[in-house]
Amino acid sequence: MTSVLRIVDIAAMGVLGLFFLLLALFSLSERRYRAAVVSALLLTANGIFWIMLIYWLAIGWVVWVNLAIIILGAVFAALSLMSWFPSRREGREVSGAERYDERDQMFARNNLRNHPGLREKYYRDNPDRESIDREILRLPEFGQPGHTYYHRYATPVYQAAFEFIERSIPVSSGEPAPEKREIDPEKLKEYITDAAIFYGACDVGFTPIRDYHLYSRAGRHAEGWGEEISTDHRTAIVIALRMDIDMIKEAPTGRVIQESFRKYVEAAKVSDIIAAYIRQFGYRARAHNDANYQTLCVPLAVDAGLGELGRMGVLIHRKYGPLVRLAVVTTELELSVSPSVDLHIEDFCMICRKCSDNCPTSAISGGDEPVSRGFRHWSVSQEECYRFWKKIGTDCGVCLSVCPYSKPDSFIHRLVRFYISRNRLNQRIALLFDDLLYGRRKKINKKNPEKIFPR
Ligand code: SF4
Ligand code: SF4
Repeated sequence: MTSVLRIVDIAAMGVLGLFFLLLALFSLSERRYRAAVVSALLLTANGIFWIMLIYWLAIGWVVWVNLAIIILGAVFAALSLMSWFPSRREGREVSGAERYDERDQMFARNNLRNHPGLREKYYRDNPDRESIDREILRLPEFGQPGHTYYHRYATPVYQAAFEFIERSIPVSSGEPAPEKREIDPEKLKEYITDAAIFYGACDVGFTPIRDYHLYSRAGRHAEGWGEEISTDHRTAIVIALRMDIDMIKEAPTGRVIQESFRKYVEAAKVSDIIAAYIRQFGYRARAHNDANYQTLCVPLAVDAGLGELGRMGVLIHRKYGPLVRLAVVTTELELSVSPSVDLHIEDFCMICRKCSDNCPTSAISGGDEPVSRGFRHWSVSQEECYRFWKKIGTDCGVCLSVCPYSKPDSFIHRLVRFYISRNRLNQRIALLFDDLLYGRRKKINKKNPEKIFPR
């Protein structure tokens, strides 16, 4: 038995050692130095443990301890492959969902400063919001000096990007070609996906449009403010663009807002092209991108199978976690729905709470998924979040940067995502390791990195 145990011990040492070695190497390549050091220590401890066990096999009772370790290890490995989520989550019931009024959104409310008539009307209808909004309005506007992360040369860059996005709004819609061309919907769907990825998207999903996907009334611009939103478009195409992990790692400094705007510009470009592409076949289509939405991107993205809703109220993409920006194209065409995903991300959010623990303003709930607008879903306190943005002059992103899903789509992280999707026990272990490797609390830089745009 001793010689069999010796072989099994060497195999176990090799498999675990290989895993820790890969973890250390991947962490080094990702410049996650703490994770690399911890992995190297685990690699060493693993080697010492098994070598000592093999060495002590000459002592009689050690054989039995070794045998117990091997059996327990095998049971544990088998358990970790089992899909097992015993409790409570039974899908999201959205039949009672109320539509969201865009006028209630913080960007829309902040814009009211330029429109006294609309402002008066809004606060007449929503008196409870007036004092907090007044307080937020007193803070310097985005792009103005006085913010923690204001940068004389870099800050105007994202403002220029925003100006570009606003000027491109008319491109998002247009008349379709006069003749409707006959199409094979599946073929067109394939070409839409390929073209979107060719022009910069990382993922594309399709879903039928439901009522709760649409804002109830427009509110972002003075023109059309308060107008009811409706559509006869049947399908939404959700386009995801991947954010640069190294830029977001520097949250909440000026790098985050530059990366956000870079991706909003890309998202506008890709969605405008796809909408125009569909119109060439004679079908109506409209792009929805930053400052120009009639739709809510996150529920659409979830229904289009791109990922799940995370505690921080954003999409947790199946491969890129929360590090994606979204744009939408709606069309009258009927295209088949993408398969939904269930990676148990929402179960993981129940135990993780890393975003809520690190949020500088406690805008993210640490409790159970609350019910608002008539259905159960995660959402953040937009007033608290936005107030912080206006204090620091960036869109913060601390929650994005600490999320365990904010990792590259490499072999090792894919393996971990699969592991997390199997059962609760795996999720607890993965969270423990995430805290150990990457830390539970993020240290926040009080000033911008030396270079905002790394080359
Ligand atoms: S962006 Fe910042 S302030 Fe807003 S929810 Fe995330 S961590 Fe909190
Ligand atoms: S940090 Fe944790 S709790 Fe927050 S969204 Fe990511 S996985 Fe969910």
